[in-house]
Amino acid sequence: MKLTISIQLKPDEKQAKRLLNTLEKANEAANAISEQAWDTRTFQQFKLHGITYHWARETFELTAQMVVRIIAKVSDAYKLDKKRQRVFRKHGSIAYDDRILRYQTDKVSIWTLKGRETIPFVCGEYQQKLLQFRKGESDLVYRDGKWYLFAVVDVIEPAPDEPDDFLGVDLGIVQIATMSNGEAFAGNTVNNVRARNVKLRAKLQSKGTKSAKRLLKKRNSKEVCFAKQVNHHISKRIVQTAKAQGQGIAIENLMGIRDRVRLRRRQRSTLHSWSFYQLASFILYKARKEGVHVEVVNPRYTSQTCAECGYSCKANRRTQSQFLCVGCGVVANADHNASKIISYLGRAAVNRPYAVSYQSARLEEQLQCPAL
Ligand SMILES: [Zn+2]
Repeated sequence: MKLTISIQLKPDEKQAKRLLNTLEKANEAANAISEQAWDTRTFQQFKLHGITYHWARETFELTAQMVVRIIAKVSDAYKLDKKRQRVFRKHGSIAYDDRILRYQTDKVSIWTLKGRETIPFVCGEYQQKLLQFRKGESDLVYRDGKWYLFAVVDVIEPAPDEPDDFLGVDLGIVQIATMSNGEAFAGNTVNNVRARNVKLRAKLQSKGTKSAKRLLKKRNSKEVCFAKQVNHHISKRIVQTAKAQGQGIAIENLMGIRDRVRLRRRQRSTLHSWSFYQLASFILYKARKEGVHVEVVNPRYTSQTCAECGYSCKANRRTQSQFLCVGCGVVANADHNASKIISYLGRAAVNRPYAVSYQSARLEEQLQCPAL
């Protein structure tokens, strides 16, 4: 499984300046190469290399590997469509391969226009452990005055056992996630932040000034950050719970959520589906790392089927939170009931003769994220 980890570089003032100059020069080169590609209608990497490589090296005084990567980046950018000239941001990220970037325990040796620089970096214990699985290129990223390297690591997944019991997870808005063991994660903190921001956004957008736009951007990224933190926490807890109990995890594919959220306002709905997709993805990749089996189930009728007697009827779901079975009279929390049904569906999925065995690539597909 491939993961991207980020480490933060701690250059001194002089080094930071050199990194910045290098980044700007590389993007300048990318734009010049993009212009040539556009003017001559040459988009294929090999051909583009033929007409721009020597010229770019002389003009921009970049190292060979970097020019090769920049040509690849330009060629890649035209893959999507060739209808408009691609322009790269002045401080867009650039790729470094092993010849121009070397990792040591707590520092990197990195190529700049003024020669190599040895720059210390910081990262968490977890990232440090993963760094040994690093493969291929890293991206040098400049964001809000700070320097990062984004590295791709290839982690070997432990093969998960096929469990006979599943922890069902129901996703929702009022309760972000409810597990079939009864534990739930309330959505009110996230929802409150979101609601506050929706109001603020409307106010700031109507103002339209530069400072209002800046503030808007800041608020948005803060909200995304916060939701991500919450999703990390929830997914971790879910995977740990399943692992401790020797269970697999059953989650619903996200089409069901779209149907539930669709009735709400559009903007809110995209935010929610995006966040659900993130949560589901976090669950998938954490489960993989821990060797926990995941089944994605079709959520149809989960909200109206009784987990006690199996009776399925629309009238069973009384309100958003209350479930009252017409068949057997059981009263339950609706989300908890749904998570139990999802747990049964997970078990049914493994037990059926044509059960799809654990395939990482398929799981994302099965999630069917509506927002992406
Ligand atoms: Zn019932």
